[in-house]
Amino acid sequence: MGDPRELNLKRPLLILDLDETLISASEEPPSGHHDFLCGPYFIRKRPFAGSFLAAVALSYDLAAWTSATEAYARCVAEHLFDRVSLAFLWARPRCTLRRDPCGPEEYFVKDLKKVRRAGYDLRRVLVVDDSLRALERHRGNLVQVRPFTGDPGDQELEHLAAYLIRIAGSDDFRRVEKRAWRAAAID
Ligand SMILES: [Mg+2]
Repeated sequence: MGDPRELNLKRPLLILDLDETLISASEEPPSGHHDFLCGPYFIRKRPFAGSFLAAVALSYDLAAWTSATEAYARCVAEHLFDRVSLAFLWARPRCTLRRDPCGPEEYFVKDLKKVRRAGYDLRRVLVVDDSLRALERHRGNLVQVRPFTGDPGDQELEHLAAYLIRIAGSDDFRRVEKRAWRAAAID
C-alpha cells in the first residue's frame, strides 16, 4: 500500500473497449456514412469519439482492450487513436473465455489481474465498456456505457468525458459510485 498522496500524483489508467463503446461495426454498409473499413467491416466512430479521446488524454494514460481479434484491433486503433498514444492495445488472446453456467453460451471476460501484473495499481484503473459481463470479476473498475449501434445523436462520450475528468483525482476508483455516472456528469 503506497502513500495515497504519492498515488495521486501518478496518472490513472483508462482502458477503453472498442466495439459498441467507441465504434460500431457492421458487415452490411450502414444507411448513413461510415468512417473507415477494417477487413469486411464498415466502422462508424461514436459521436464525440475524437474530442473524448483528446479530453481524457489530458488526465489519464490511455489503453484499449477488445475481445475482437488482434488484426481487427490494430486496424481500428490505427484509425481511432491516430492522435493519442496508448499504453497498450490488447485483444482476444488476453481475454479469458467463460462458459455461462446456465446455458451453452461462451463469452470473454477481461481479467484485470493481467493489468495488475503489467504493473498497474488497480485502485487507479478504470475500464469503459458497454458490457457488464466482460468486467464481471472487476465491476468496481467499470464505467458502463450504453451500447453504441450507430445512432448519430448519441451523446454518451460527450458526457462521459466530463465525468471522467471530474473523478480522475480519486485515490481509489473502486470506491467511487459509478453506476449513476450520467446524472453526476450532467449536474
Ligand atoms: Mg463492447
